[in-house]
Amino acid sequence: MKSLDSQNFNQEIETKVKKVILDYNLIDKGDRVAVALSGGKDSVLTLHILDKLLNEDGFDFELLAIAIDEGIGGYREEGIESAGNNAHQLGVDYHEISMETELGFSLDDASQFFKTACVPCGVFRRYLLNRTAYQLGADKLATGHNLDDEVQSFLMSFARADVRRFAKFGPKQDRIHSQMVPRIKPLWLVPEKEVGIWAIMNEVDVHLAECPYAHQSLRSRLKNYLNQLEENHPGTKMNMLKFFQKNLQVAKKEVKLAQCQICGEPSSASTCKACEMQEFIKQNLE
Ligand code: SF4
Repeated sequence: MKSLDSQNFNQEIETKVKKVILDYNLIDKGDRVAVALSGGKDSVLTLHILDKLLNEDGFDFELLAIAIDEGIGGYREEGIESAGNNAHQLGVDYHEISMETELGFSLDDASQFFKTACVPCGVFRRYLLNRTAYQLGADKLATGHNLDDEVQSFLMSFARADVRRFAKFGPKQDRIHSQMVPRIKPLWLVPEKEVGIWAIMNEVDVHLAECPYAHQSLRSRLKNYLNQLEENHPGTKMNMLKFFQKNLQVAKKEVKLAQCQICGEPSSASTCKACEMQEFIKQNLE
């Protein structure tokens, strides 16, 4: 049985999640919500908390889960196992998609052609998640992005002068294309530290290991920097989040999507990034 402390802690997290869901209208009545489930603590908490809301709080929506196996040897297998275990434990409809099966190569194969594996990983994961969620009739795609992830993402776009990506900021994306399943971020107000404590306190089966490619990423460096800042100046991350939220409406209005001429998926150019990269990788693998 859970101790009173863990019950209070869980309650605090649930309150934050409910606040985001209600304040930003993340879920509409009757929505089919697909959770992008990696097996890591953030996506697993997202699944558990949405399942709890569904069963205990009178929210009216359907829940399913999609796990993408990118093919990262010695790492991804455990995450996929945790993802499946949690979905089955909660009785959630679970779909596992292998990048190798879908695209003909794994992330390990593709990574050699890029400065960092995170570049193809991000492109193909987004592509497969959206395509699968759309095929499954999902109205929303819930990701495990927490408060820390969001601030890191913003600073990454800032550092790369990538204004288009600012449109992805915020707990909910608008439907900017009929085939683009809008993303929602129920953990938007939950700091990463609290997600970790939740997983440990509740003894949840989560994959806690770090991806072997993580050290290559700008995100990882920004994460360390922000953690140091937060330690010396508590509240910094939340202040940044609030600042970005107040100042980003202009960038959000500028985004328009067309359709990729090869795969038909939503794209900002005539050929989408995933098709462009697939072509490049396949040519190099031959
Ligand atoms: Fe993919 Fe990079 Fe994350 Fe590893 S660290 S899962 S390669 S985005």
